[in-house]
Amino acid sequence: MDWVAQGLCRAQPERMFAEEGAALKEAKAVCAGCPVRIECLAYALDHRVGHGVWGAMTQRERRALLRRRPGVTSWAEFFETARTHQDTAPAGR
Ligand code: SF4
Repeated sequence: MDWVAQGLCRAQPERMFAEEGAALKEAKAVCAGCPVRIECLAYALDHRVGHGVWGAMTQRERRALLRRRPGVTSWAEFFETARTHQDTAPAGR
């Protein structure tokens, strides 16, 4: 979990456990600019973290994603593979 030290929420991690309203929107906005958003989201998905905003996704959003993609056994690998393919994909027309 080397990525934790780079998280934008590291100074106030309690903010990421907002459950509704403006506080929840603000938590997601912090994640949107975070350099380790994908690592954070992968961790939450792989460990079935049940509360808080991780990688800009709420608990409800993560549960929905897990239901949509039951075949993914490692979200860390899934995102890494996607990133690799994106880096090597030919430029668009
Ligand atoms: S993605 Fe969000 S919750 Fe995860 S480390 Fe970054 S700011 Fe914190």
